[in-house]
Amino acid sequence: MHISRIFQEARKKGAPTLSLEFFPPKSPEASARLYASIEELVPLSPSFVSVTYGAGGSTRELTHDLVLRLHRETNIMIIPHLTMVNSTEEEILNIVRTYAKEGVKNIMALRGDPPKDQPFQEYPENFRFAKDLVKLIRTECGEAGVGVAGFPEGHPGIQNRLKEMEYFKEKTEAGADYIVTQLFFDNVMFYRYLDMLSFYKINIPVVAGIMPISSKAGLERMAELSGNTFFPPGLLGPIWDAKDDSEVQKIGIEWAKKQVDDLIKQKVAGIHFYTLNQSKPTMEIYRDLNLR
Ligand SMILES: Cc1cc2nc3c(=O)[nH]c(=O)nc-3n(C[C@H](O)[C@H](O)[C@H](O)COP(=O)(O)OP(=O)(O)OC[C@H]3O[C@@H](n4cnc5c(N)ncnc54)[C@H](O)[C@@H]3O)c2cc1C
Repeated sequence: MHISRIFQEARKKGAPTLSLEFFPPKSPEASARLYASIEELVPLSPSFVSVTYGAGGSTRELTHDLVLRLHRETNIMIIPHLTMVNSTEEEILNIVRTYAKEGVKNIMALRGDPPKDQPFQEYPENFRFAKDLVKLIRTECGEAGVGVAGFPEGHPGIQNRLKEMEYFKEKTEAGADYIVTQLFFDNVMFYRYLDMLSFYKINIPVVAGIMPISSKAGLERMAELSGNTFFPPGLLGPIWDAKDDSEVQKIGIEWAKKQVDDLIKQKVAGIHFYTLNQSKPTMEIYRDLNLR
């Protein structure tokens, strides 16, 4: 099914899409844990499940394996992420064709981050940004559903927010069907972003990325990876005071619950849970907010 139909149906019901994200496991133990989480989460009937794509060759194979296994063994829409850095157009086309042959026709199109020692100028000019990947997928597989990444608090790679919005508009106009955002902890940032998109006449569904914090180390890792994310003092204070990570997890779940509750009241198009391959936080949020 095309992803746009999922959004249309959700809109008709007056409810947001609720989706989950997993990353491919790197060891047999991590794999066993992931499949246990998936078994618990699949009965929640997520609108779709996305699988991230790593930087190296072997982790990329793991993404393909996980995507195809979930696609064959569940009746949930599986959306692979695909990044273009360190890949040729031919390699990318082979992946898109393999997915299409298997019936996986929705893809999240991302640039990815190049290794730190590799300047962008080394990438071919016509294949450097996610918009080029969106165009390539559109040309190869016209009926594909294509998602792109959005950054409510700005992408860390650019300082000029006006230029950023211009580039972002080009990316969506290259043929994107929907946007999934970077995680955020203050919904105001997300609502301001929606205003900005509407001002630029970007009218495709925007799915809010939510990540319940589960440990102090995880919080620090997130701050490192997500760049510009604002951490509200109301969230940070209790986390700093928490005596262990199980308390941090409770605080993280409560905070995410409030965010989700408010997003639903504001009638957002979709909510995407960064599960970190764990089932507990997402299950608690679903249960306590009576989702699905
Ligand atoms: C929802 C989501 C999922 C993600 N999943 C993955 C994943 O699975 N694997 C992974 O490796 N990474 C993933 N990422 C991270 C992402 O790859 C990085 O954040 C990357 O730096 C940007 O990717 P993009 O697709 O937004 O790139 P782009 O849209 O190409 O933007 C990258 C930067 O280039 C700038 N830019 C765009 N066009 C131009 C232009 N014409 N001239 C100059 N500058 C321009 C943009 O302003 C931005 O600063 C994800 C991010 C999000 C939000």
